[in-house]
Amino acid sequence: MTGIITLKAKREKSLLRKHPWVFSNGIAKVSGKPLQGETVDVYSHDGRFLAKAAYSPESQIRARVWTFDQQQDVNKDFFVARLQAAQASRDLLSEFCQTNAYRLVAGENDGLPGITIDKYQDVLVLQLLSAGAEFHKRNLIDALIQLYPEACLYERSDVDVRKKEGLEPAQGLLHGSLPAQPMEIEENGLRLLINVETGHKTGYYLDQRNNRAMVGKMAKDRRVLNCFSYTGGFGTYALAGGATEVTNVDVSDDALSIAAKNVELNGLDASRITHLNADVFKQLRDYRKEGRRFDMIVLDPPKFVDSKASLNRASRGYKDINMLAMQLLEPGGILATYSCSGLMPSGLFQKIVADAALDAGRDLQFLKTLEQAEDHPTSGPYPEGYYLKGFLCRVA
Ligand code: SAH
Repeated sequence: MTGIITLKAKREKSLLRKHPWVFSNGIAKVSGKPLQGETVDVYSHDGRFLAKAAYSPESQIRARVWTFDQQQDVNKDFFVARLQAAQASRDLLSEFCQTNAYRLVAGENDGLPGITIDKYQDVLVLQLLSAGAEFHKRNLIDALIQLYPEACLYERSDVDVRKKEGLEPAQGLLHGSLPAQPMEIEENGLRLLINVETGHKTGYYLDQRNNRAMVGKMAKDRRVLNCFSYTGGFGTYALAGGATEVTNVDVSDDALSIAAKNVELNGLDASRITHLNADVFKQLRDYRKEGRRFDMIVLDPPKFVDSKASLNRASRGYKDINMLAMQLLEPGGILATYSCSGLMPSGLFQKIVADAALDAGRDLQFLKTLEQAEDHPTSGPYPEGYYLKGFLCRVA
């Protein structure tokens, strides 16, 4: 028997608007003893069918919707259809950039809650973040093998958020054979190394692709400071774009060593790039003390906000690095600044950057708003899908 979730009165509104989450505090009753991750039917208080969803007994998000269609079964064919739709959306990518690495599935935004799949050439890296994704792992793998018979499937579900769903971390080969790591991808004409086994997330920050290209175009004859560089994406583009000097700053030696290899791989002038293992907060202060100046600075920090409670502290962190960066810019210098925290509203981030300019004693203009690339789409009913925001600024 299929488990059934019955919502409290008036709690069906978000599902009627096709938002895919059912919160525990909106539930009146769970019947039929569903297993963790099993598909349940969701009904309104007055008995109307609303959705089929994955049950997650340990999470505040108690169920995530697979489908609003009562006739649709959640099986291998369901995953094949959703993956085909996701691929069709990614087929548009060639209109915007040139790449053989992209996010194939962006969870809720592709009707596949809790599932992230990044495609690096023929390697598909999966992150299964929800009980439902875990429950249907076999169906998902079979669907992927059907659609991408040549591909290697590798799992990188070694992430903390799985705990909220009552799941252990998991990592390893699921199908096929993994090419030697690091492996190469090609993005906008640059060759870049990524390591899907040991890299952050699935190996690379695909979401910044367009912003890297923009920085590359603007870097000519500029001294560029790339803060939170990871494997040097922005820095490699800047060097290729004709920067006079580039400094990558990160706390990860592994990331910086890949960054150095990327310079070599593209035949770029290694004498114009420095790789610095340092804490950005401290390094920016040290540069200020030394009177060091740059013409362009990229600030792409990790997620500072992981809960609503941490928003204030995170805001101070963003303001601090933005203020320091502005103080290091020559008059007329360019700042590309980002927040990848979904919980940081775009308007608030803009205010933080504006306030940072006041504190820095510098005049600031916002030239352009920046965002995640097109392979990280936002589903209409799910504004949470829009998480990466940034501004291109000119500092006088
Ligand atoms: N800009 C990168 C992605 C940055 S991810 C790209 O386009 O690929 C954030 C990076 O910040 C990670 O590599 C992490 O190692 C680094 N990091 C986190 N805290 C740091 C700190 N306090 N100082 C320097 N680097 C930090």
